[in-house]
Amino acid sequence: MNGLIDRNKRWEDDDRKYLWHPFTQMKEWLEEPPLIIIEGRGNYLKDAYGRWYLDGVSSLWCNIHGHRRKEIDDAIKEQLENIAHSTLLGLSNVPAIELAEKLVQITPKGTDSSAFSLQPSALTRVFYSDNGSTTVEIAIKMAFQYWQNKGQRGRTAFLSLNNAYHGDTIGAVSVGGIEIFHSAFKPLLFPSYRVPSPYCYRCELGLSYPSCAMGCLEQMEELLKKNNNVIAAVIIEPVVQGAGGMIVAPEGYLKGVCELCTKYNVLLIVDEVATAFGRTGKMFACEHENVSPDIMCVAKGITGGYLPLAATITTEEIFNAFLSEYTEFKTFFHGHTYTGNPLACAAAIVNLEIFEREKTLEHLQPKIALLSERLKPLNNLPLVGEIRQKGFMVGIELVADKETKTHFPAGERVGLKVIKSARENGLIIRPLGDVIVLMPPLSVTEEEIKRIVEIVGEAIRKLKVESGK
Ligand code: PLP
Repeated sequence: MNGLIDRNKRWEDDDRKYLWHPFTQMKEWLEEPPLIIIEGRGNYLKDAYGRWYLDGVSSLWCNIHGHRRKEIDDAIKEQLENIAHSTLLGLSNVPAIELAEKLVQITPKGTDSSAFSLQPSALTRVFYSDNGSTTVEIAIKMAFQYWQNKGQRGRTAFLSLNNAYHGDTIGAVSVGGIEIFHSAFKPLLFPSYRVPSPYCYRCELGLSYPSCAMGCLEQMEELLKKNNNVIAAVIIEPVVQGAGGMIVAPEGYLKGVCELCTKYNVLLIVDEVATAFGRTGKMFACEHENVSPDIMCVAKGITGGYLPLAATITTEEIFNAFLSEYTEFKTFFHGHTYTGNPLACAAAIVNLEIFEREKTLEHLQPKIALLSERLKPLNNLPLVGEIRQKGFMVGIELVADKETKTHFPAGERVGLKVIKSARENGLIIRPLGDVIVLMPPLSVTEEEIKRIVEIVGEAIRKLKVESGK
């Protein structure tokens, strides 16, 4: 026992001595021993002291079928017997080829949009990278160069939404819309057009849904009408703006954006990094509105949450614009060392096979309904401003005053208090400011859903007592 405590203490000290954690105020971090995860099984994580926790946010929104899924473990081991990595620059590999075929087969065909000029074609070409930010970076460069290659050199700008989050690299931040994350880097960013977010709870236009008739879309249209000749693409998180606070767009919004892109002849990039692979209840969020984009970005859940892999998937129309004699220099000069990594692709293939074999999406529907039903009573808690849910993506926005929707002062760290309290009761979650995020693996059971909501409800109720409200 002493050995275990000594070992853990050493890890805790060394963590604080050597590591710099992402999105973390390290001054706060250094004040307490970190929680160190040493194992995962199913929907649970084990810490260094042997305590088990429910993984309430799918290890940062990426785990799909649970931890240590035998089939995925085996696929990685089997691939390891052949080769861990070789390159896609000048060579190919079997898992990368097979996964690309599978992705092309399952990505949305957007049958409703067949009347449009730019959005009719299915996604047919897969360009790999290794994280969500790079898949977006690639989409931006691909859209930009598409127009360059077509001779429309003035189309250099992008249009994105307030509250958007597309990753942390400079291109992705340039189309981001979260002040607290992005404002410090403004001098480094390329300018981009920004329009209101479909955040009905705090409508930027002061309107109410549905009487607004989606006035935010009108603003997008005005901007496109004036500037479409300089805009390469609109980039959007389909249906749910994740890191912006789990903002669920009203039904028809995504379709409306797609139609505007067609009308004003700009490309549509959908960033499905958070929403793809069942998270919203369908394989891709685009399917909710029968939208087939020009470019789709996926990452996170693609390997079932096992290994870093991402894909930027596009149409034949875009792919063809890069075909030329070498000396015309229309080549897409972009690529990463671990692009199409065979281990990650092998894991991703099996991840998709499990979806098929176990009918994951079918079994998910009653669990989504149960989650909604269990969340409903939390609306009555005095500090709960709004509960937003699309499938297994949930945001519970906490407010100091329900009537006025007043935020808590940032220093109160309300979100942090809730997750710490939940952790004491065996649930790991991570907030976005004062929005409590729930995003369990798709493999979570009905009993576990009940437990997650119970623990979160309790943590919010307790917060009420502690803050004296
Ligand atoms: N795009 C969206 C919609 C995301 O939610 C995220 C991450 O949360 C990213 C891009 C960036 O992904 P990564 O953290 O893998 O770079």
